[in-house]
Amino acid sequence: QESPMITDAAELERLDQKSQFHPFTSIADLAKEGPTVMTSGQGVRVRDAHGRDYLDGMAGLWCVNLGYGRTEITEAITRQSERLSFFHTFNGMTSDVVAECADALLKRAPVPMSRVFFGASGSDANETQLKLIWYYNNLRGKPEKKKIIARWNSYHGSGVATASLTGLPGMHNYFDLPKGPILHVSAPYYYRDAPEGMSERDFSRKLARELEEVIEREGADTIAAFFAEAVMGAGGLIPPPEGYFDEISAILKKHDILLVADEVVSGFGRLGTYWGSQTYGYEPDLITSAKGVTSGYFPMSVCFISPKVWDVIEGAAAQTGIFGHGYTYSAHPVGAAAALAALKLIDELEVVKNVADVGPHLMNGLRDRLGQHPHVGDIRGQGLMVGIELAKDRATKEGFPPANRTGREVLKAAAKRGLITRALGDTLVFAPPLVINRAEVDELVDKFALAVGDVLG
Ligand code: PLP
Repeated sequence: QESPMITDAAELERLDQKSQFHPFTSIADLAKEGPTVMTSGQGVRVRDAHGRDYLDGMAGLWCVNLGYGRTEITEAITRQSERLSFFHTFNGMTSDVVAECADALLKRAPVPMSRVFFGASGSDANETQLKLIWYYNNLRGKPEKKKIIARWNSYHGSGVATASLTGLPGMHNYFDLPKGPILHVSAPYYYRDAPEGMSERDFSRKLARELEEVIEREGADTIAAFFAEAVMGAGGLIPPPEGYFDEISAILKKHDILLVADEVVSGFGRLGTYWGSQTYGYEPDLITSAKGVTSGYFPMSVCFISPKVWDVIEGAAAQTGIFGHGYTYSAHPVGAAAALAALKLIDELEVVKNVADVGPHLMNGLRDRLGQHPHVGDIRGQGLMVGIELAKDRATKEGFPPANRTGREVLKAAAKRGLITRALGDTLVFAPPLVINRAEVDELVDKFALAVGDVLG
């Protein structure tokens, strides 16, 4: 295997800094601090160009679920690249490995699904969902039923439509995104937004009432779908309060509104069940997945389409002709080979069972070490998706001034101690590889507690 020609860390940092426009990066910070250049990874660890090792508490970007250096996947990728490096799926074409992968995915769906549609990223998959939803309602004679409801703090992607759908104002600023027929309702942010003394159940009912009010105000015959992550990820690691999805699902059903489960992060085991919808017991009409389907070894996304939607689309096929949507890399055979290898490993390694065991171990460890820290406001999560929200005053929940960038300081202190976390404002997040073991979880907790201490005492 060819190694990169340049190995000098300073030179790599210089080249990257003067050449690459980084996504989701402060240009000012990068100018001051330079990039961190990773060069290799094994298991739950990555190594940078200086030879420093880090425990990757974020599995890359919540995607390297099976850890780094999985030869079962890399060899499947190599074999497929050599045998058939590309073929497309337009005009009824396909490849052997894609046919097998589509079937394997449908068999793993949480509720009966009729078809899968492939893409290359979570963003393009949610774009597909939006188009499918509009297509579906046009075909069933409901052309007015087009508005989409998402939630503040949600993350659904970075495309023009999916960034609009995303409820993070920081992603709307300066871009003049078309608002389109998109509405936002409150996030289920119990820690920050529930009135003093209100139970989780009552907070869920309050949010459900808000949703129903929006539907009634706009008219149910204008609302097509509701998008939701199981646990909000990029918007601050927000798990749903008790009863939330029961309440919401009932309202959506009543008003004939599709529930789109964005399982880009929560799919394939992250919450300790195969799908996030199984943790909370709701039945999606459409599912968006990506990331974990190949464990991040190849860009691939998968939309699952329920019989309810598929039957309308199939039923109108004589009239619609060609389905006018798709990507060159829809169902890339190398991605399908990577996915088949990853799906097999998820089963063989009993990854979901591991998450159900080490997830609570991580939560307990963090609570033991940091639960009483004067500047830790909340520790929350599900499975291997955990957030630690810092607060200036634990009792009043008052946050630190944003200009202090306290979360970022903790992130930097953690990196110095060899641990990768992510700072979403002042919420530090962990979503490590799902194959992490108890000893590695203990190491993560220890390094993190020390990093919090470095910054906040
Ligand atoms: N949906 C969710 C819930 C996500 O977390 C992400 C990415 O983190 C996306 C969609 C977009 O995926 P991608 O970055 O692959 O476009």
